[in-house]
Amino acid sequence: MGELRKDYLLDDWVIISPGRGVRPHDVVEEEKVEDKGCVFCPGNEEASPKEIGRLSGKQGWLMRWLPNKFPAVAPVSLADVATHNRFFTFAVNYGFHELVVETPVHNRQLWDFSAQDIERVLSVYCNRIAALELNPGIKYVAVWKNHGAKAGTSLVHSHSQILAQQVVPVRVQQKISAMRRFVKCPYCDIIQSEKNSSRLIFENETVVAFAPYASRFQYEAWVFPKAHMTRFAQADLRAFAEALQKIFSCLKKINASYNMTVTYAPKGADLHCHVEILPRLAIWSGFEFASGTIINSVSPEDAARFYRNE
Ligand SMILES: [Zn+2]
Ligand SMILES: [Zn+2]
Repeated sequence: MGELRKDYLLDDWVIISPGRGVRPHDVVEEEKVEDKGCVFCPGNEEASPKEIGRLSGKQGWLMRWLPNKFPAVAPVSLADVATHNRFFTFAVNYGFHELVVETPVHNRQLWDFSAQDIERVLSVYCNRIAALELNPGIKYVAVWKNHGAKAGTSLVHSHSQILAQQVVPVRVQQKISAMRRFVKCPYCDIIQSEKNSSRLIFENETVVAFAPYASRFQYEAWVFPKAHMTRFAQADLRAFAEALQKIFSCLKKINASYNMTVTYAPKGADLHCHVEILPRLAIWSGFEFASGTIINSVSPEDAARFYRNE
């Protein structure tokens, strides 16, 4: 098991995880669907670690969640972050890494799901966040999904990942810190403003989706509950699922690899919770890494038009 290491000076953390490179990999560049011996298919349950839970339907399971066989972190004994020789800040890779298998059907992707199916996935996310943050030393439970080779998925069978860690991710921490500079939640105002802009993608009674003003990714989409809330457990998950389903169905048309991330406030902090959809159509060049500034060749206004089918 590796280590959690911090940059010499910056608040950038890296998980050093030797061994994950040898995990099974059935996604190839052309995304050929290969279903022989898939560890997530019904009948192959024994090939995975003992499941944590499942949702059963009339003909077997609908969803399963289980420990990741190739975890980036592990429930080893918890140790504090330490610094050696001034610049080497590290901790053991303490945490929990789980997978949510979203469907028993090998090649049914999230973008083929109904809003009701997506709602079920979201509610499992909420339950796993609540369960995992009860563990000592866990500061944040990151939830995300990779779809397609360009988004870093290694197995075609649709699944999400959950990683409970001992640090709050830098991007979440930056948003929490930025929010503290405002008297009232800035995202509540941003939602009102973007709802009436050319970047609006979709809205229903309780949820709004828009292409963020400074989108980092082509066709990037953010989905927020309209009312201020910090946790998804408080949200209207069906309304969320409806917005996500609209977005995914558009991404299917262009066969886009994408990541989906779930952002919320860890206990004791304030952050307007939201979901980000990050299509992975462009590959970042040296400029992005050299400057920290991203070149996005699709304007968010055009991206929103694409999602609105205009
Ligand atoms: Zn499968
Ligand atoms: Zn708010």
